Amino acid sequence: KVRVRFAPSPTGPLHIGGVRTALFNYLFAKQHQGEFILRIEDTDQNRYVESAEQYITDALNWCGIPYSEGPGKNETYGPYRQSERKHLYKNYADQLIAEGKAYYAFDTAEQLDAHRKDHESKGKTFIYNWHNREKGRLVNSLVLSNAETQSKIEAGEDYVIRFKAPENQTLHLKDVIRGDISIDTNILDDKVLFKSDGMPTYHLANIVDDHLMHITHVIRGEEWLPSLALHKLLYDAFGWEPPKFAHLPLILKPTGKGKLSKRDGDKLGFPVFPLEWTDPKTGETSNGYKEEGYFPEAVVNFLAFLGWNPGTEQEIFSLEELIDSFDLTKVNKGGARFDPDKTKWFNHHYMQQQLDLDLAQSFKKLKPELQDIDLNYIALVVGLIKERATFVNDFWDLSHYFFVAPESYDEKASKKALKEETPELMQGVIDIITATKEFTVENLQVKLKAWINENNISFGKVMMPLRVALVGALQGPDVFEIMFLIGKHETVRRIDRLVK
Ligand code: GLU
Repeated sequence: KVRVRFAPSPTGPLHIGGVRTALFNYLFAKQHQGEFILRIEDTDQNRYVESAEQYITDALNWCGIPYSEGPGKNETYGPYRQSERKHLYKNYADQLIAEGKAYYAFDTAEQLDAHRKDHESKGKTFIYNWHNREKGRLVNSLVLSNAETQSKIEAGEDYVIRFKAPENQTLHLKDVIRGDISIDTNILDDKVLFKSDGMPTYHLANIVDDHLMHITHVIRGEEWLPSLALHKLLYDAFGWEPPKFAHLPLILKPTGKGKLSKRDGDKLGFPVFPLEWTDPKTGETSNGYKEEGYFPEAVVNFLAFLGWNPGTEQEIFSLEELIDSFDLTKVNKGGARFDPDKTKWFNHHYMQQQLDLDLAQSFKKLKPELQDIDLNYIALVVGLIKERATFVNDFWDLSHYFFVAPESYDEKASKKALKEETPELMQGVIDIITATKEFTVENLQVKLKAWINENNISFGKVMMPLRVALVGALQGPDVFEIMFLIGKHETVRRIDRLVK
């Protein structure tokens, strides 16, 4: 059975790259009737941010991609927060030490820094590995006697447990997206697995948990590809069968050059977070897709296309369709360029799918001017104008004249529309409207058009001033629809006002 996990570190808000990772995991799990697991990787106490976990679950829920197993939900393999699994990891580190696959190291930060500087001055890079680990300049249990090591630990000296990466081996790694990868183990450093504060590092905790939680596929961002060799070595060291790995491509700036960052969003005015986020330290607030008026369906749809496409022309995919069509093996290796205009295009599309009554509700919440107006009326207005809108935020500019009569007329429009004969023609229109008993779009259309034809008037000479009277400008949907919605009395009043 397929079991995948999304394993964010609660250090801040999820970037859309993180949401994309979660989405691809979710799609893969769903199409295999598998489980989508949330694991909170909070072993780094220095970077821990308390509100981040709530943000992560809120974001997944808003996107409509909930986890099936995780903190507080079907805790079969729980707990799902690494801080609550702290007691588990030490044994695994000890096991590797006992088997000679890991060792204690006591080098202080200052000592390591000195080694680094020393190497740099000779034009080399310092790697803590086979090359120098046993040469005596480093302080670790491979150099020290057992007794010395023991007494250092007992004296409470700070230590770390490092993995002993092999020398002179070529590792053959597989990635579902990238194919075969070969790595020379000589370039690997002996990564820290465990620290004397009792906390594992990401690498150890991640491997132990993926194993204990029976994860079958690890789908994560490209930034973890360099860790793949170590992870494979760890699985081998424990004698565990590794999961399959898939590393998703980077998300690139709109220019296509470099990784997308929050600064790009700030510069070009688009969010990079699913939900609004207020930094608890600085109090600084960053925009979110939700608050900017994006529909979750639109966000999911555009995220799916960051690194994947169906190989056809189809661009609009519901979540269900994505579950059917998504193919992990067809995810691109190369970076995916983020296109803010395309996200708007998707939102405009999903706007048309929403129920007018739902949109009316959001619109009403936004505008104090609408508080006393009947929701059904607002919904009818929304139905007429949403085709021109990308966000609910655009509604007022497109529809204010349905709620408030124009107070002035656009200068250009007036010049174009208002002619000498306008007052007379408008009086004609008023007469027809007044005489129309059943005030429907159909009736208005038929009667006005007939009158225009009979009198050989040019259509524009009537319709343009009429529009200016109702809207205040030469914009908006069908004039007959506008008249019908604002009603007979108001229509006459507005035409009257234009010519008097
Ligand atoms: N905690 C890691 C992160 O924040 C998880 C990486 C992985 O999926 O292995 O991205």
